[in-house]
Amino acid sequence: MQAEVVAIGTELLLGEIIDTNSSWIAQQLTTLGLNLYYTHTVGDNVARISEVLRTCVVRSDVVITTGGLGPTVDDWTREAAADAFGRSLELDEDLLDEIAAFFKRRGRVMTDNNRKQALVPAGSQVIHNPVGTAPCFLLEKDGHILISLPGVPFEMKHLMQTQVLPLLRERFHLRGIIKSRVLHTCSIGESALSHYFTDLMGSANPTVGTAAHSGQTDIRITAKAESEAQVNQLIAPMERELRARIGRWIYGVDADTLPGIVCGLLHEQHLTLGTYETVCAGQLGSWLAQETAAPGCYLGSVAFTHPINGLLTDPLEALRTTPESSQEEADQAANAVRQILHSDLGLAVTGRSEQAAADDSPAYIALSTPTGVKRIAPRRARTGPNGRGWLLHNAVDMVRRYLLQLPLE
Ligand code: ATP
Ligand code: MG
Repeated sequence: MQAEVVAIGTELLLGEIIDTNSSWIAQQLTTLGLNLYYTHTVGDNVARISEVLRTCVVRSDVVITTGGLGPTVDDWTREAAADAFGRSLELDEDLLDEIAAFFKRRGRVMTDNNRKQALVPAGSQVIHNPVGTAPCFLLEKDGHILISLPGVPFEMKHLMQTQVLPLLRERFHLRGIIKSRVLHTCSIGESALSHYFTDLMGSANPTVGTAAHSGQTDIRITAKAESEAQVNQLIAPMERELRARIGRWIYGVDADTLPGIVCGLLHEQHLTLGTYETVCAGQLGSWLAQETAAPGCYLGSVAFTHPINGLLTDPLEALRTTPESSQEEADQAANAVRQILHSDLGLAVTGRSEQAAADDSPAYIALSTPTGVKRIAPRRARTGPNGRGWLLHNAVDMVRRYLLQLPLE
C-alpha cells in the first residue's frame, strides 16, 4: 500500500511556517505499515493543487492533504479536489447545520464565508470535525482515496487519530505495525563502528541502518510485524547481537541523551560534577545544564577565554600564565574546578582558545576524581560545530565510562 502527503499553503512555500504536519502524518502512516514514497508542498492555487492531486491519486492508494479548507479566499483545497476528480461542489445541508451549531455554541456570528465550508465535492464522504469549522472529506476513484484535512495542526491530529487512522486500518486491512529502536553510540566514527556489523546491515526484517551526527552515530533497528509484541520479538535478538559486538560504545537508546545518561548516573551514585572549558564556547556547560531530570548533580561551569584578573580565585592562577596548552593544564584545571565548585568530579576540556579558530589545534581532556586525575589521549579539536561535537561527546563520555567503570577509551 502506497501513500502520499500533500501540504497546501503558500506560507509553507515561502518558508514562513515550517511544515510539521507532513512529518507528523508520515510517522503515523509508517506506524500503520503504509509506504510513503512522496510528500509535496503546493501553494494556494487551484490549478497547481489540482495538478498535484491528479498525479498522486493515480499512483498511490491513499493521498492525504492538509490545509486550504478554511473559509477565506485563499483556501482552495475543496475546489482543487473537485476539479482533480471531475466533480462539482455541492452544499451539504447537514454540514451547514453543524457549522451553524458550532458558531452558536461559541456565541459567534456565522458569515457567508463560513457557508462556503459546507461545500464538498459531489460524492464525498464527509469527515466530521468536532474541533473546528473546516469540514473534511474523503473522495474515491478506482479504489484510490483522497482525504483532505485542515491545516491547523491540532485539528489535523485530532481527525487523524480519531477518524482517519481507524478508517485506513479497516479499509486496507492493515494489522501490521512498523517500529524502530535507536541505539546511540559515541566516541567512535560511523565507518569504524559499522565495520563490526556490516553483515547485519543486510538483514531484511528487522533492518539495521546507521546515521552519523556530530560526535555520535545512531543505529536504527526497524521491524515490521502484525503486533507490537511480535515487533519487539524481532528487535530484541538484533539488539542483543549488536550489544554483544559494540556494546562498549552504546550509551543509550531512543530518547536518551548523553548528558541525560551521565546526570542519571551521577544521581544514582550521589556524586556531583563541575566543568571547566576553554575551547567549547561554553557548550560543554550548557549541554550538561540542559539536563533537568537529575537536578543538583551538575554544579556548573568555569569558563574563560581571556582571564580577568581578580575575577577567578587562586586555583586557576597557574593556568593564566601557562604559555602552551598541555595535558598538565587540563589536569590542573580539572582539579581546580573541583576545588572551586566543591564537586566530587571535575571535568576539564582545554586548549588555546585563540588557536581554536585554526583547524586541528590540540585539545586536552582530564577528569579529576577522588582517586586522582584520569586522562584520555589528546584530541584534535576543530572549531566548526562538527569538531566541537566530537570533543563534547568525548569529554562527557569519559565521565560516563568512569562512572560505569569501563575502560576510559
Ligand atoms: P482554517 O480553517 O484555520 O483556515 P485551513 O485548513 O484553511 O484551516 P490553513 O489556512 O492552510 O488551514 O492553515 C491554518 C494554519 O495552520 C496556518 O496558518 C498554520 O499556522 C497552520 N498550518 C497549516 N499547514 C501547516 C503545516 N503543513 N504544518 C504546520 N502548520 C500548518
Ligand atoms: Mg485557511
